Amino acid sequence: MRIDIITVLPEMLTGFVGTSILARAQKKGLAEIHIHNLRDYTTDKHRRVDDYPFGGFAGMVMQCQPIDDCISHLKAERHYDAIIFTTPDGRQFDQPMANSFSLMQNVIILCGHYKGIDYRIREHLITHEVSIGDYVLTGGELAAAVMTDAIVRLIPGVLSDEQSALSDSFQDNLLAAPVYTRPADYKGWRVPDILLSGHEAKIKEWELTQSLERTRRLRPDLLAERHK
Ligand code: SAM
Repeated sequence: MRIDIITVLPEMLTGFVGTSILARAQKKGLAEIHIHNLRDYTTDKHRRVDDYPFGGFAGMVMQCQPIDDCISHLKAERHYDAIIFTTPDGRQFDQPMANSFSLMQNVIILCGHYKGIDYRIREHLITHEVSIGDYVLTGGELAAAVMTDAIVRLIPGVLSDEQSALSDSFQDNLLAAPVYTRPADYKGWRVPDILLSGHEAKIKEWELTQSLERTRRLRPDLLAERHK
């Protein structure tokens, strides 16, 4: 899978995409993540990518030209399955969305800044508008980082233990069961006996019961979704 991220602050993302799981995914050839500096696409001699909003509103707006040129340049090279704009008024990012993006071949993520982007870009070029939560960030870079991480770790082969992603919270609309590691007794805080029993079927049953109980208690809305 290839993800192209368009930003005015590439330095916010270069370290992130070169670390941990994202670095491993790229080394294994399972993901390619390219970061594009929007300023490289502006025709403005001062490398500006924003201007005052029509209507006399406060703040600055990202202009059509550099965004259109950058996206057109990428689209001339390959077909994109999704052109995502990160925006607080978009559809809220969740695990099903991460699952579906992870099945795509090529995706663009456009990071907004200032008051946002000229609305005509949203009308004519963007295919998905995605928010990472009901709060306003300064720019879309953190949203792009969150989405890229959640998507790439789902690509088969990226995590060393394939089953690990499948037993994470939100897969099957359940929260994950609690996890423990050695020692089995720390200061008298004991790991549940069943996990030390070696009885695989009973451990699986315990895991599901714990998941259901925690979901019922902490996120009953997920169970309602599961039963739809
Ligand atoms: N004026 C915009 C509004 O009220 O919807 C907010 C602009 S915000 C200061 C600048 C940029 O940060 C946005 O264009 C978007 O790309 C990004 N951003 C801010 N909050 C976000 C969120 N919750 N999810 C995704 N992107 C966000």
